[in-house]
Amino acid sequence: MDDISVLLVDDEPDLLLNLEAAVRAEGYRVLTATNGQQAVDMARAHRPHLVLLDVMMPGMDGFEACRMIKDDPDTRDAFVIFLSAKDVTQSKVVGLDSGAFDYITKPFHYDELFARLRSFRREFEYRKKLNEMMEFSRSLNVLDFDALMTTIEKKIGFIFKSDFFSIFLWDHDKGQLKLIADNHDDFVDLKGLEIPLEKTPLMEEVIRTCHPVYVSDFHSSKYRTEERKGSSDKYRDPYALGIPLVMGDRIMGVLNLNGNSKGFFDLPDLTYLQLGAEHLTSAISNALQYQRIMEMAVTDPLTGLYNRRYFYERMGMEWDRAMRYKTKMSVMMTDVDFFKKVNDTFGHVCGDMILVQTALMLRKHLRKIDVIARYGGEEFIVLLPETPKQNAAIVADRIRQDMESSSWDWDGKQVRVTLSLGVEDTHGDGVKVMDDIIRIVDEKLYQAKESGRNKVVA
Ligand code: GH3
Ligand code: MG
Ligand code: MG
Repeated sequence: MDDISVLLVDDEPDLLLNLEAAVRAEGYRVLTATNGQQAVDMARAHRPHLVLLDVMMPGMDGFEACRMIKDDPDTRDAFVIFLSAKDVTQSKVVGLDSGAFDYITKPFHYDELFARLRSFRREFEYRKKLNEMMEFSRSLNVLDFDALMTTIEKKIGFIFKSDFFSIFLWDHDKGQLKLIADNHDDFVDLKGLEIPLEKTPLMEEVIRTCHPVYVSDFHSSKYRTEERKGSSDKYRDPYALGIPLVMGDRIMGVLNLNGNSKGFFDLPDLTYLQLGAEHLTSAISNALQYQRIMEMAVTDPLTGLYNRRYFYERMGMEWDRAMRYKTKMSVMMTDVDFFKKVNDTFGHVCGDMILVQTALMLRKHLRKIDVIARYGGEEFIVLLPETPKQNAAIVADRIRQDMESSSWDWDGKQVRVTLSLGVEDTHGDGVKVMDDIIRIVDEKLYQAKESGRNKVVA
């Protein structure tokens, strides 16, 4: 308890000495002052959590000192308890109205003082928790999803004083829970792990009932599955608490708290933990929404590929990198041959299907680091970092061949299309600035068309 400091103020040296010994014995850190002005100065210098303040003192009296302490933003959070021989109602009213927490009359019994100190402690702890919750909530003001997860992992101990935690998002359509944040050592690299609901009975109950589930001994609980044996055996008395993350009437996921300390929380704490979970939920929901909007802003809705705007943004970055590290970067542009005919023969919806198939074909042959975008109607553009033209041309031809030999069923008829492709890299003839590469690749695509289509020109 010596994290809590008490300033004792009294002009009677004997009483001050006795008080000091008694309060220190209760485990508090103790400071002393013998008059009002000194009390105000000490409060400012040492920021005690509690001031036990005599009223009648020479010079500045206790009421005045209390007012000054309460008026100063630096010291106003200190609790003040008057300790006074003035046992008249009017005096108590003035004392409490000046911002004091309590008023004890002298002579007092030490048992009474200690009881009032305990009451102060309860209030103090409550206010501390409130502040922690506020700070926690403020720290979650992060829109970027990954950054939010890092913040949660760093700050969650503030509120949820548990050995371990994990947060799973509930995917109703897939019937799965996905791990998004945790502090388990043995979960390393498991981020993104997806668990079918029925494999995790405790979380299943949380999801189904929308209520917290607590077991003080997970080992002997009905929630322990065969698969979980081993992984949880290292905890001696493992408790497990699952708190639903609820947004409106929708369940978003589960916060799990696990650890060894038996009886780690009391029922009143649950309300507090749920309040923390609510802050978590709204922060996660905001970040997910932000992520969705950001994705929408860079995505072509039909094919799910990046859009042209995003392509240029990335190309700027990759161009600078290629220049700095003197690596070759290629750009590939492709256009569906006689696409108008597909629309005319099979209809617009079939045309759309072919565009989606073309996107899939590009994805199939390109790497994860390549940036594939829909450039226009039936034109696509690809950025291949750290790839010379020769290699890009090989990939381009693989795509061309695969497309040529593919067909799709539409209303019982087979639809086929071919692709023309142009490829250029950062070291190509006439490539000086970034826009040159786009211009040249476009010219090469035109050459491919002119020379008969279903071709790669690199
Ligand atoms: P070329 O071999 O010379 O490229 O001939 P093409 O018919 O493919 O070229 P053209 O540019 O004349 O026609 C492209 C057509 O693509 C015209 C347009 O109606 C169609 N188109 C553009 N965007 C979409 C789309 O999102 N869906 C569908 N179904 N058609 C589209
Ligand atoms: Mg075309
Ligand atoms: Mg075109």
